[in-house]
Amino acid sequence: MHILDRTTKEIIEYFQGIRPGEPIITKMEYEGAKIAIYVSSPEVFAEQDQIAKELVNLIKKRIVIRSDPNIRAERKQAEATINKYLEDRYNIIFDEALGEAIVETKNPTSLLQSKGHEIKKIMMETGWIVKIVREPLIPSKSMDKVKNYIYWDPKQRIEALKRIGEIVFKSQAFETTDLSVTFLGAGKQVGRSAILVETTESRVLLDCGLAPGANNNMNMFPKFDAKLDEIMDLDAIVVSHAHMDHAGMVPYLFKYGYRGPVYCTEPTVVLMTMELLDYINLMGKEGVFAPYTEHEIRLAMQHTVPIKYGLVTNITPDVRLTFYNAGHILGSAVVHLHIGEGFHNIIYTGDFKFERTRMFDPSVYKFPRAETLIMESTYGNTPVPFTREESESLLASHISNTIDRGGKVIIPVPAVGRAQEIMLVLNHLFSTNGIPEVPVFLDGLLVEATAIHTAYPEYLSNELRTNIEEAGNIFMSEYFTPVRNQSQREEILSSKGPAIIISTSGMLEGGPVLTYLKEFGGDENNLMLFVSYQVEGTRGRRILKGMREVEMVNEEGKREIVKINMKVEKVDGFSGHSSRQQLINYIGKFTPKPKNLIFIHGEPEAVESLATSASRLVNSRIYVPKNLDTIALA
Ligand code: ZN
Repeated sequence: MHILDRTTKEIIEYFQGIRPGEPIITKMEYEGAKIAIYVSSPEVFAEQDQIAKELVNLIKKRIVIRSDPNIRAERKQAEATINKYLEDRYNIIFDEALGEAIVETKNPTSLLQSKGHEIKKIMMETGWIVKIVREPLIPSKSMDKVKNYIYWDPKQRIEALKRIGEIVFKSQAFETTDLSVTFLGAGKQVGRSAILVETTESRVLLDCGLAPGANNNMNMFPKFDAKLDEIMDLDAIVVSHAHMDHAGMVPYLFKYGYRGPVYCTEPTVVLMTMELLDYINLMGKEGVFAPYTEHEIRLAMQHTVPIKYGLVTNITPDVRLTFYNAGHILGSAVVHLHIGEGFHNIIYTGDFKFERTRMFDPSVYKFPRAETLIMESTYGNTPVPFTREESESLLASHISNTIDRGGKVIIPVPAVGRAQEIMLVLNHLFSTNGIPEVPVFLDGLLVEATAIHTAYPEYLSNELRTNIEEAGNIFMSEYFTPVRNQSQREEILSSKGPAIIISTSGMLEGGPVLTYLKEFGGDENNLMLFVSYQVEGTRGRRILKGMREVEMVNEEGKREIVKINMKVEKVDGFSGHSSRQQLINYIGKFTPKPKNLIFIHGEPEAVESLATSASRLVNSRIYVPKNLDTIALA
């Protein structure tokens, strides 16, 4: 028994009410977490916003009104009509599966404001839903890839959405009486986040990541083998954000037959695609077999259901999901699971930043209800002795000193997050004469990641959003040069004089940053400046700990030892993670006070130190699970 069996009558009666005697509905089916109603009347179709609103009030499920394919105009004709009414030529993608004409523009707000009336006319005349979307200010390969995955096979996608609907809308078989969480990764470690949430009715996996720096698959993958039956029978995967330690194993589950939904925010879909493709690409270059191929990445992306912040969505018969801003990276979310009707609420922070940064507002900390809080603890044992302003001036002084002695500054960054934050900080320092003017080179995946940032201003802080609307690409300035090819890179390698190089990967595990390290590492005038967390076992961590000889693989695939004479510094305040004080502030301010407080995603000293501090602050039951521990919450 499904929801449609129960609500069909109500829906038909509603349409009879607005158009008596006319058979309007031609089909009703599930479309991911929504119910799609296909109608044959162009007038009714054009009024879809109003109708969907009224129906949601009536049946309490998310509804979308679609046109019957029979009333849709041919693409060519639809395109001509769109261009005529919008009085310009736009790039238009026709999504056959959903009957949507996607119009891309650099300024969707002004187009929507000036052409609202015309858009309605287009829909009435063509039978296509007109969706205005923002295109990035710099072309993005990952966005093109995602479009390719999603629109290339409408049949497969419609099938996937139907299957997802069957999970979401099936009738609840069991009353929700039990609830447990099992940690398949991220227990007393940073990496391979994967939390299995089980109720009497449903199984949901929160994050599905891998452990960077792990020396074998056993240590790199979450402990799926211990819960194999449950993993093979998941109802949903929820991805908090696009970093590999939270999303890197999603395609692996598709390889083993998972065909359910992957819920995340819209930017996460694109950033995740970028990171996953980069990962298998890198593995290929190193001659290592990746745990999955592009085929599974494509499959995973076809099963994603993007959800905006603040929108409550049914994902199984007894679980409702809402995302909130986490302040960590673009599209990062704090996950709220509402289980049963008021039975229990889990808040899972994912990675979060409880401080305003140049890019994001601080993470959300107030929730309607919360019995259990699962919290990351990366910096649980690492107080940052500086304010944000002090961190910026410390960064400026390290850079200035290096420039003064004619050296180069290498800043290794993860492509997503710190890269863009540091770019904004450098822009600010240049414009306020905080550092001397020198060229800044951007190399690696961060250039692509920056392009993606320009397409989602609504996921940035209020202030930046306004700036992007007014000034366009606020990340790139005249000081920055993206490195686009090898010859350009060689020019930088042989150049004399000071420069700043921002490059991936952030933990020196691969990427062009290694080329710069090899060339500039031997000169004591240069500086390696860390601004992000270095996971145990990575090359970055070893250098930070004082190792001055590092092994690297050269172009011919041979191992060689590189001597490091350059200075090494770390400035902490820029992390996308909360500092120890911010974590403690979060526990103190978190509303309402949770019954259970669970610390994960931190090395043993970090989670334990945080647990001790928390026990003095709140009355919650406190847990510090290791991998494979199960906590019964109800
Ligand atoms: Zn992260």
